[in-house]
Amino acid sequence: MNNFYRSIFAGVFLLLSAGSALADNNNFNSLLWMQSSAEYKANTIQAYNTALRNIDAALGNRKWTAAKEQIAHYSSLPPAIVMDIDETVLDNSPYMGKVVFEGGEWNAVTWNEWVALQSATAVPGAVEFIKAMRDKNVKVIFISNRECRKAGNPASGFCQEAGTIANLAKVGVAGVLPEDVLLLGEEEGWTSEKKSRREYISKKYRIVMLFGDDLGDFLPDVKSNITPQERDRLVSENKNNWGKKWFMLPNPTYGSWINILHDPKSQYIMKY
Ligand SMILES: [Mg+2]
Repeated sequence: MNNFYRSIFAGVFLLLSAGSALADNNNFNSLLWMQSSAEYKANTIQAYNTALRNIDAALGNRKWTAAKEQIAHYSSLPPAIVMDIDETVLDNSPYMGKVVFEGGEWNAVTWNEWVALQSATAVPGAVEFIKAMRDKNVKVIFISNRECRKAGNPASGFCQEAGTIANLAKVGVAGVLPEDVLLLGEEEGWTSEKKSRREYISKKYRIVMLFGDDLGDFLPDVKSNITPQERDRLVSENKNNWGKKWFMLPNPTYGSWINILHDPKSQYIMKY
């Protein structure tokens, strides 16, 4: 190989190795942290312990609501908490583990296979917290972007609701009613944007706390066409809600935090 080709090969090799070092689908460390670190577990337990300490104040104050969608005449409604499911109550990291090892990406077919297995374990602290809510007669309602397509909708007949309820029962959350699990596509207008489902619940219940791993579990219009700076600003504007009415579970492996970023994602890395 002459020097000319050698330098081309070296250049290509450098580009490739730089590319893989900055690969935007490298979930290895994120997943390692979620599955093996004591720090992840401490974070989730911290969120649920904090919520438990605040629930009596929430229940005792009839003006207290956690939902922006909750507008008029809610003080006499029964209290409810609204929880996301994936990476909030159920831990799907083994699915992500398969994706990492096989070098693929999330896709609807393999995800549905995973959901059908009903093998997700519980996020630490979640089951105990839900039991405590039930003991206090607080309604627990789930808003998830797992899918359910009813008759008349595209892909009608496809519904992950029964499998999800069975998986919840397996981890110790028994007796969840289908009407308390609001899935993507289950009703007209129930898109991945959860605002319409929070509105729906807010007509029947006073939503006292929200739980999720994605900013979209708390606020509308934060999952696309938005910059990280705008999302940061929203977090600051709502700073009094965090740890009081809103409880964020950590998820470095997926979510709208990364979906909103443009390629190359290395442009978002700050360095001195
Ligand atoms: Mg989630």
